[in-house]
Amino acid sequence: MSRASNFPPPFSTAEFVAEPSDPPDERIEVGVLIVGAGPAGLACAIRLGQLLGEHPDVAERLGDVPVAVLEKGKQPGSHLLSGAVVDPRGLRRLFGNSLRMEDLPSYGEVPGESVYVLTRRSSLPIPPPPPMRNHGNWIFSLSQLGRFLGERAEEGGALLLPETAAQKLLVSHGRVVGVRTGDKGRSREGGELGNFEAGSDLVAKVTVLAEGTQGHLTGVALDRFALRGDDPQVWELGVKEVWKVAKPLDRVIHTMGWPLRSGKRYREFGGSFIYPMGEDMVTIGLVVGLDYRDASLSVHDLLQELKTHPKIRRILAGGERVEWGAKTIPSGGFRALPERLHAPGLLLCGDGVGMVNIPRLKGVHYAIESGRLAAEAAFRSLQRGHTPATALSSYDDAVRDSFIWQDLYEVRNMRQVFGHGFFVGGALASAMTISKGRAEIGKMSAEPDADQPLLVTDRDAGYPTPDGTLTFDKLSSVFASGNKTRDDQPNHIRIERRVPPEVAKLWVRMCPAQVYEIGREADDGTVMVELAPSNCVQCGAITAKGGRLTPPEGGSGPEYTST
Ligand SMILES: Cc1cc2nc3c(=O)[nH]c(=O)nc-3n(C[C@H](O)[C@H](O)[C@H](O)COP(=O)(O)OP(=O)(O)OC[C@H]3O[C@@H](n4cnc5c(N)ncnc54)[C@H](O)[C@@H]3O)c2cc1C
Ligand code: SF4
Repeated sequence: MSRASNFPPPFSTAEFVAEPSDPPDERIEVGVLIVGAGPAGLACAIRLGQLLGEHPDVAERLGDVPVAVLEKGKQPGSHLLSGAVVDPRGLRRLFGNSLRMEDLPSYGEVPGESVYVLTRRSSLPIPPPPPMRNHGNWIFSLSQLGRFLGERAEEGGALLLPETAAQKLLVSHGRVVGVRTGDKGRSREGGELGNFEAGSDLVAKVTVLAEGTQGHLTGVALDRFALRGDDPQVWELGVKEVWKVAKPLDRVIHTMGWPLRSGKRYREFGGSFIYPMGEDMVTIGLVVGLDYRDASLSVHDLLQELKTHPKIRRILAGGERVEWGAKTIPSGGFRALPERLHAPGLLLCGDGVGMVNIPRLKGVHYAIESGRLAAEAAFRSLQRGHTPATALSSYDDAVRDSFIWQDLYEVRNMRQVFGHGFFVGGALASAMTISKGRAEIGKMSAEPDADQPLLVTDRDAGYPTPDGTLTFDKLSSVFASGNKTRDDQPNHIRIERRVPPEVAKLWVRMCPAQVYEIGREADDGTVMVELAPSNCVQCGAITAKGGRLTPPEGGSGPEYTST
């Protein structure tokens, strides 16, 4: 049986590690350089602004740019996508008394909740299992929250550099000294167009990688500094839509079961979320573990199918889809955390290192808290009288003492147990949750998503034909993501182009943005995979399933506004 991992992409870590190459007087010097304007990176910038405000002597020593944040999207929030029902602990600790939850751009506290087990036509309400209880949590649009946090970071003195992708990790004498940004204005073949701009070296005293899921440089750093943990990281793919609706939704809804299959041989793990966003909008999404085996599975099309369920159809009736997006979620949990969260000159936060509580489907508060703790460690390393190496390693201790560590430990085997099928996995997961992680069920390991042996069924024959009102095809979804990537940009997706048909089919079906197509068949039965990289919404699924996403030209990709 084929496995995607048998066809690795042409990619090597060494390509993305370099010494600074710009002449010293042309390098941009920064105190703390943060890569990624998501909740982790922006919390880090906000906390640094608070600390530097209290210690102007340290700020002065950091020069003209004490803190800079690089973001590959058009602006903070453009590439952010989440549920997003947020546990407020991280935000409250970040802002203290200076901002209340009511001051943030939210859709209010969770008003109530329901959980259903679905079959094709029916829905069985069940009492919300402990991880799905959301009392006291707040509903946000993460892209809107990202824009708000970006403004707070700028107010605190951070320089935001949007439309800028960090391409290479700058390492000198075994220490991270910054990043090199990507070139802009190259043609598909790599030539320089009229608007060509070469990338630059940004050198920093401390670099914080807060790149989120499938972080490109985070992966490079984990390999370069041998930081990976015992268990491989695994991911889920989430596809979501935002709808303007005729009737307000009065609670958050989670569903399990249909359209996923419960049979162990399929390894289909996941569920849906439907959250209200004020009086006239809802968000609906489906999240599926990428360790699934059926090459004909498409999360994009399963979400379309889900919307045809009578219960869900009623919620969306008379409404209109206004936005669409997709993103992966790291789901290996505690067991897949790196051995260390720091290296010389470097700190790692948030989804990049897998800080997500998968049974709760929550990572925003861990991202914020880890960004805040990284800021404190970075700041300590810059104060006189502190040894930078010891100060940076104190970040690991701070994370170990935080609610991030405690929460993730309690659900440490949660994702791994679902490899035993939906029912056995569900029973073990409940035992762990009820005992707050004290039920010891032995160490379970996950296998990399791309290692799963593939099977091919006719599951795809049942996906609904798009009607353009309730159900949509992938290309209209890409349009609804606001993606405006130039068609003639260089290809940023690395895959083995000639593969067995089932691996090609896996990629075609998996990609929610219709980037892959099956091309010519060769005499040996393999097929050529054709690519349309400009459709890519940078969800990261291809990295989990046997390829490698690298950051495209800064400013390209989706333009999310309410995901
Ligand atoms: C479908 C779905 C539903 C979810 N639901 C919830 C929920 O309800 N509640 C919850 O708490 N969590 C939820 N999560 C998880 C949550 O969204 C993440 O845990 C959180 O966003 C992680 O924050 P982060 O800052 O680490 O990364 P991100 O939010 O991913 O932000 C990273 C940022 O870095 C930028 N970036 C990455 N690489 C580079 C680079 N090389 N150069 C420049 N910029 C770069 C990206 O463009 C992005 O803006 C959900 C996730 C998904 C996908
Ligand atoms: S090509 Fe882009 S959109 Fe498609 S799976 Fe890969 S990362 Fe996601």
